[in-house]
Amino acid sequence: MRALYIGRFQPYHNGHHAVIKEIASQFDEVVIVIGSAQKSHELDDPFTAGERYLMISKSLRDDGISNYYIVPVIDINRNAVWVSHVESLIPPVNVVFTNNALVERLFRERGYEVRKPPLFNRHEYSGTEIRRRMLAGEAWEDLVPGAVVEVIKEIDGVGRLRDLARTDTFK
Ligand code: NAD
Repeated sequence: MRALYIGRFQPYHNGHHAVIKEIASQFDEVVIVIGSAQKSHELDDPFTAGERYLMISKSLRDDGISNYYIVPVIDINRNAVWVSHVESLIPPVNVVFTNNALVERLFRERGYEVRKPPLFNRHEYSGTEIRRRMLAGEAWEDLVPGAVVEVIKEIDGVGRLRDLARTDTFK
């Protein structure tokens, strides 16, 4: 049995990681779709698909998990055919895991079984909260796997986010 998990992962955090570890232990394989793959260098979407790929693959490698495939998928502006778009890029899957209401709706309408994974410490394990802390100069490192801290430092992710915020104030 193969499961599908979709996210933007801006950035990949401990909540995503806990869910994927759980799914990987229950299914033969997990297909991880990096959504909005075309986006980067924006305040809400600062990291490229390749950077997010590194965050996920290094975090899973550190935990000895190898039964997964990562597939970046760009957005299309037609929700009615988005599931077909995703299907055209991924291996076949039996079950979809998501808490995103639109993703849930679209996959159910195409006949997929959709399961809602548990949310872990949603207040802090949240991309919005992590990006807010980065901009405010507050500690964010405990909210993501160690490998994600390394990737964000390697690419100067916090500096990038601050530059994006600075640019915005001059618009
Ligand atoms: P996300 O990274 O915000 O979340 C991914 C998943 O992690 C969600 O199911 C979310 O509920 C879960 N999660 C978040 N915090 C958690 C926590 N603390 N503990 C456990 N789980 C947690 O990504 P998303 O917004 O769900 O990604 C959906 C993607 O699908 C986006 O990239 C979106 O653009 C794309 N999409 C595209 C189209 C289109 O192109 N027409 C249509 C629908 C969706």
